[in-house]
Amino acid sequence: MASNSTPLDNSATRIFRSEEELAQLPASERIRYRLMSAERRYHANDNISAFVRAGEVEELKAEVQAKMQEVLQALVIDTDSDHNTNETAKRVAKMYLEEVFRGRYVPMPAVTEFPNAERLNELMIVGPITVRSACSHHMCPIFGRVWIGILPNEHSNLIGLSKYARITDWIMSRPQIQEEAVTMLANELQERVRPDGLAIVMEADHFCMHWRGVKDTESAMVNSVMRGAFLKDANLRREFLSLLPRKQQA
Ligand SMILES: [Zn+2]
Repeated sequence: MASNSTPLDNSATRIFRSEEELAQLPASERIRYRLMSAERRYHANDNISAFVRAGEVEELKAEVQAKMQEVLQALVIDTDSDHNTNETAKRVAKMYLEEVFRGRYVPMPAVTEFPNAERLNELMIVGPITVRSACSHHMCPIFGRVWIGILPNEHSNLIGLSKYARITDWIMSRPQIQEEAVTMLANELQERVRPDGLAIVMEADHFCMHWRGVKDTESAMVNSVMRGAFLKDANLRREFLSLLPRKQQA
């Protein structure tokens, strides 16, 4: 087949569906259809809330519960007699949709920005912010801490201290990859605060390292993003890093 036939094939598979037809589909397929029609990415760490309608998270929960029940069956676990696993599929579905992967399905928490009336231009450090996430590779927990350094200018928008934690949690409550999580957080803050400099350090324990694989109990992964003034000014970068109460300094 000629290579130039690919775009044609792609558009041919995009069948138009009416709202009535969509209503017959499971919620996950309905949402996937909307995402594909809008040509939007839906990787594990993407937020898809704009494509999820009222009540659909409940439907997704029921779907995940049914599939999780099949996983337990495939693991040859007698969930009928075993009182411990009787409700496990339901618990896991609720945990995924409402807690640990919630950041995929809900919009960003509302953040009030206010102008920098005091014209603050000193290094500001927020942290440590507790991070609870999961790795996209194994869906194992990631547990860690984040520090954020901001160098505002007179045009920056300031946001309340607690909002940094809420935005961080929204980004981390998805299956993540540490490097990508830190970049996503930096992009979000850059766009909102518009500082002269932005620095983020994340230090985290990946439980897939402890629970499986090498079973190394001492491995913490450290990642950082430096932008603007933090990139250009080595003194500022050093000042930020020296103020972090971490065991090992970068
Ligand atoms: Zn992993």
